[in-house]
Amino acid sequence: MNKLSGKTALVTGSSRGIGRATAIALAREGALVAVHYARNQQAAQETVELIEKDGGRAFSLGAELGVPGDIDQLFRGLEAGLKQHTGQTTLDILVNNAAETSTGTAPEEVSAEEFDKTFAVNVKAPFFITQRALGLIPDGGRVINISSGLTRVANPAQSVYSMTKGALEQLTLHLARHLAPRGITVNSVLPGITDNGNAFFKIPEVREQMSELSAFKRIGEPDEVADAIVFLATDEARWITGAALDATGGSLLG
Ligand code: NDP
Repeated sequence: MNKLSGKTALVTGSSRGIGRATAIALAREGALVAVHYARNQQAAQETVELIEKDGGRAFSLGAELGVPGDIDQLFRGLEAGLKQHTGQTTLDILVNNAAETSTGTAPEEVSAEEFDKTFAVNVKAPFFITQRALGLIPDGGRVINISSGLTRVANPAQSVYSMTKGALEQLTLHLARHLAPRGITVNSVLPGITDNGNAFFKIPEVREQMSELSAFKRIGEPDEVADAIVFLATDEARWITGAALDATGGSLLG
């Protein structure tokens, strides 16, 4: 018996990278997965096809986050898809994964626009997605926020991005207490450097430098982070809430 049979899940930003791996891994455990994307419909469709080829169930929905009307658009697509596939709009598992990832800007050079955009996508959107999803999540549900190991180390070039992830971890903490009476767990997962397919990861010198950060001396793969996320979604993690799970491959061990 699969661990998530009969469950439904939304993974924001699952057209590629860690989100795609998470969608595939949740579906492999039996969940019906809503594959969300911003612009890359084709990539989201590929995620759906990979899941279906594997014998799983999924549908895609597009909604750019951080723009007016984003939450309404996302929930229109989500509720329509859930209804079509299950006859209901119950959402058991919410994974807030989509993020604006900074390319690295020194604090002196961060513009107000970049600051606002990063907070809008990485903090405001997950907050209001979660708020809206709480009407669909039953007792015993799961909220999993994807943070970053960068909340534990100083990296001035990524100060704004790291601040957004710190805020997301705060959301995890407060919601964990707030939702415990309903048996809903809320946790953060902190990935380290993970090869999301970006061209950047194909540059040998970059790979070598990044590999040094992990205690295992290599770059993480999306499915390695996805497995940690799936664990938190299962019943086996029912006693874990408000946690920040280090999925950095030992990058924070010093
Ligand atoms: P990717 O950059 O590979 O993918 C980002 C996903 O988010 C895509 O599906 C993209 O959709 C979606 N997305 C981006 N911006 C928006 C937006 N404005 N509105 C809606 N969707 C959006 O991400 P990763 O796999 O690298 O990262 C996944 C998570 O893990 C993020 O939260 C990231 O901060 C975190 N993380 C990643 C690390 C890494 O090394 N990869 C390290 C630490 C944390 P589309 O393609 O359709 O535009």
